[in-house]
Amino acid sequence: MKVGIYGGTFNPPHIGHEQSAITASEQLGLDLLVIVPVGIPPHKPLPAGSPSADIRFSMTYSAFKKSPDTIVSNIEARNPEPSYTVETVDVIKHTYPEAELFLLLGTDMFLSLETWKDFESLLKIVTPAVFSRNPDDLQKITAHSQYLLEKYGVNSRIVLNSVIPISSSGLREMLPKRGGAGYINDTNYAYIIKHRLYGAKPDWEWLRQRAYSMLNPARIPHVAACEEAAVSLAERWGVDRNDAREAAILHDITKKFDLKDHLKVLEKHGFSSDTLGHAGEKLLHPKSGAVLAGEMFGASDTVVNAIRWHTTGKAGMSALEKVIYLADYIESTRDFPGVEELRRLAYVDLNDAMVMGLELTVSDVSARGITPDKATIDAIDDLKK
Ligand code: FE
Ligand code: FE
Repeated sequence: MKVGIYGGTFNPPHIGHEQSAITASEQLGLDLLVIVPVGIPPHKPLPAGSPSADIRFSMTYSAFKKSPDTIVSNIEARNPEPSYTVETVDVIKHTYPEAELFLLLGTDMFLSLETWKDFESLLKIVTPAVFSRNPDDLQKITAHSQYLLEKYGVNSRIVLNSVIPISSSGLREMLPKRGGAGYINDTNYAYIIKHRLYGAKPDWEWLRQRAYSMLNPARIPHVAACEEAAVSLAERWGVDRNDAREAAILHDITKKFDLKDHLKVLEKHGFSSDTLGHAGEKLLHPKSGAVLAGEMFGASDTVVNAIRWHTTGKAGMSALEKVIYLADYIESTRDFPGVEELRRLAYVDLNDAMVMGLELTVSDVSARGITPDKATIDAIDDLKK
């Protein structure tokens, strides 16, 4: 039996890791690959703000869940002390006493092998298997394996790996710039965005797809047009256009929920069916949408509040809240008496446009025999002061 051991910080795991694992399994003819996310690396500390060992272990598990003949071990992730490879491979050796063990390594690790703890004992247990990414490092690897052979009688194996050009450190730089989604499995990317790990910000196309999948297809043109209007208004009024875009994409995500769905989201946030009163379901979607934007997509409070007040308005609205309120009202698919005037006004005077929109809402709901929401009346009074 041939068993490969593939350790790393997996910070975060990506498709390059998955590809390397497949290549190594094929070229070494492995029967089993043991993936070992490290808990505390012994040599250099993890970059500041790295997720905990538990989280990296879970993401690594998710990344390799579907790989055949592969297991993800928590032997190092659960260790509260720095983990030394020699100790880890010793445990694996005891688990598979008959197996031939291969230790998968990147070039830099391989070149520094002699500095590892008890490396001579280590090399008695495992055969190093080095990933070569290009002719350049192949030369270095070949020279070093020759050296290890002569000095210690160690045979090394080389795995030719034309890797996907991505690294965890590269991803940590891309994620805050809304990149990287395509290099990380979807479950992990969604998790990273939800918790905004690595300072990640959502890839726009990914966010749209996620948000649209929650909508009735008929509502998608409205949300797309709202995004466009929100960005345009944000630019006009000096509001953060990324916040505006995010709030607009997410503003109606719970629009197709029924009363039960809304309550399920809202009850754990202190709303009860009593305090919800007789507000129609129409007034529940900004509340539940705001909650889910935070919970599912890690939206900031600024964005959450813009979603929260997009239907009723409220006294003391921020510029972003006004932008989202108006974008929802004037986006290009809207058609009602006065929409042209409201569109014009939204670029001339943000507060006058707000008053016009809010008053239109009041007369609209009143005409239908519904009492206008108190927050809407407060918003008008506040803006007229
Ligand atoms: Fe809405
Ligand atoms: Fe809307």
